[in-house]
Amino acid sequence: MAVTIQWFPGHMAKAIREFEENISLVDIVFELVDARAPYSTLNPEIARISANKPHLYILTKRDLADEKLTRQWLNYFHSQNSAAIAVDAKGKFGVKDILTAINPLLKDKLERELAKGMKPRPIRAIAVGVPNVGKSTVLNRLVKRRAAQVGNRPGVTKGQQWLKADNHLELLDTPGILWPKFQDQLIADKLALTGAIKDSVYHSDDIALFGLEYFVAHYPQALQERYKLTEEDLELPTADLLLLITKNIGMRDDYERASNRIILDMRSKKVGPFTLDTLEDIDNE
Ligand code: GDP
Repeated sequence: MAVTIQWFPGHMAKAIREFEENISLVDIVFELVDARAPYSTLNPEIARISANKPHLYILTKRDLADEKLTRQWLNYFHSQNSAAIAVDAKGKFGVKDILTAINPLLKDKLERELAKGMKPRPIRAIAVGVPNVGKSTVLNRLVKRRAAQVGNRPGVTKGQQWLKADNHLELLDTPGILWPKFQDQLIADKLALTGAIKDSVYHSDDIALFGLEYFVAHYPQALQERYKLTEEDLELPTADLLLLITKNIGMRDDYERASNRIILDMRSKKVGPFTLDTLEDIDNE
């Protein structure tokens, strides 16, 4: 087994309890998933707990993902009656994109408030997602820190605050950290390669081999270009391919170091872009 994921039942129970408390305070849930693994980074419990709340799926790290598959995933989430957008959270992205995406879902709420002669209050949202998916980056983008705090409100747990994104949108200040799916070795490998699992809990050569095998099958050219490989090289058993790449990048026989390099290359799009989940992964569950 390559990866042991350290989430204990106590942690999960606490995360669920916190999320259940918060869900009643918001109009909509922003669930962040990694565009490179939109299925593997979906939390299994969130849909159940927040079943009757509108959902916006924010596919982060679009810049690192396979654009064709990103479009398929967006269509899939839309087909589930949810809103969905894909973003490069570090690029051109802001509150307007979010508001445009959620507008159709919250139209009823706005119309009801207007019909009652009420001034529509800002939409309240909570952002949730597995570690490293980009929650802080997204929140920082949406909220202008200094002027952001709206202050405590009744019903909000002590220490929690609403942050103002603009006049139409407020976010609960602490993003919810979720555990990923981990019952499945393949999903664990995908999470490790994208960085959703701490590097210290798996062997880098296992993950590099997993990545190489996936790239040989799906993105062979990217590998060939980066590591100066021929088509025949790609037919080698994956362990031999790792050794060859180790030599080609001048690391002699230090395949541990080479493995770390390969993982970093994949995560930073030096080899890529890539996406590890396809819509078939849902059918296979
Ligand atoms: P959190 O643990 O969910 O709060 O994740 P962070 O916001 O700390 O982001 C984790 C890492 O991913 C950081 O190094 C971010 O710079 C990076 N990151 C977040 N969003 C994006 C994105 O859309 N594109 C790219 N390329 N990197 C991102």
